Amino acid sequence: MECTRCGACCVAPDIAALDKPLGLRCPHLTEDNLCSVYERRPQVCRSYEADEVCRRIEAPTLEERVRKYLDLFGLAAEAEAVSQGGCGSMRAARKLRPGDA
Ligand code: SF4
Ligand code: SF4
Repeated sequence: MECTRCGACCVAPDIAALDKPLGLRCPHLTEDNLCSVYERRPQVCRSYEADEVCRRIEAPTLEERVRKYLDLFGLAAEAEAVSQGGCGSMRAARKLRPGDA
């Protein structure tokens, strides 16, 4: 399976290395779904490879792909709770900027 750069894996999962909560867009994901810190992205992002999940979540919009991803892993309710609770923990993710040591 080839990566189509659909962006869903930078939005749907929680990413501990970035303190990125479930279902919220990584602050480093650009409008056209590219990684703005590609050279410095965490190891977890480096190791991520397109697989069967990518095919199973195919949909016309990013929002739908993210919803399908969360449904697939039974995480929709948890993601909903995160979105209700705000995204204070995204502050840590935003600290990772291009050019930082
Ligand atoms: S979910 Fe899969 S196809 Fe979409 S960007 Fe991530 S690896 Fe690529
Ligand atoms: S750091 Fe880059 S590759 Fe990792 S989740 Fe954010 S945008 Fe995606």
